Amino acid sequence: MRQKIVAGNWKMNNTLNETKELLKGLKKELKGVKLDNTRVIIAPTFVNLQHAVKKTAKSVLEVSAQNLHQAKNGAFTGEISADMLLDIGVNVVILGHSERRAYFNETDEALAQKVNTAVAKGLDVIFCFGEQLEDRQNENHFSVVESQLKEALFGLQAEAFKNIILAYEPVWAIGTGQTATADQAQEMHEFIRGLLAKAYDAKLADSVSILYGGSVKPNNAEEIFSKPDVDGGLIGGASLKEKDFSAIVKSI
Ligand code: PGA
Repeated sequence: MRQKIVAGNWKMNNTLNETKELLKGLKKELKGVKLDNTRVIIAPTFVNLQHAVKKTAKSVLEVSAQNLHQAKNGAFTGEISADMLLDIGVNVVILGHSERRAYFNETDEALAQKVNTAVAKGLDVIFCFGEQLEDRQNENHFSVVESQLKEALFGLQAEAFKNIILAYEPVWAIGTGQTATADQAQEMHEFIRGLLAKAYDAKLADSVSILYGGSVKPNNAEEIFSKPDVDGGLIGGASLKEKDFSAIVKSI
């Protein structure tokens, strides 16, 4: 059975003190909640990862980074390697978020390298992709998503997909309060599963978790998660409030 996953992308939010408070609150909210076959992941900023790993050790929460550099080490000022993450107990990384693509010029080609490095090191990757508003208006959303996946992921061996979590995030829905409808999410997720089946095989396609991201809130999570090809969510804004995030986790 495919794993269900709710992941919170904290982006550039929360000082160390705020991180401590939010973690405390989340652990309290989620204590005793029965989560079968479900992973709950949070992605604090780099400087607070080590603290988060320590504080979540005995909880359901797993800790993810929001990025990494593809090189092993060396002269890359300001960057963080896979080994550095693994060394402090971080085993998951978000790659390809639309903000990284838009503000830091991350191309499909660079993302393919990052994914390769992460997977080779044994990290799980939450790989984000999704169309812009004008792509959808021009009905190019399927071809944009197809090309993002082909360019960055489909060079991987089938075996590598045990480390891949997909996160479909239409850019027009991120941080805008304008969620894709549950039907729009399902339609795209079904299409994505079809692409995986074509590029690899049906068994692999059926095994990969596909999350939806973009303005998921406590009041719409349940409907979105009820769709057969939606295996959970990548949550931005609502992951910064313990009550909202835990409510979303409980609706999986
Ligand atoms: P949002 O962000 O939930 O605030 O729309 C989602 C994301 O960027 O992953």
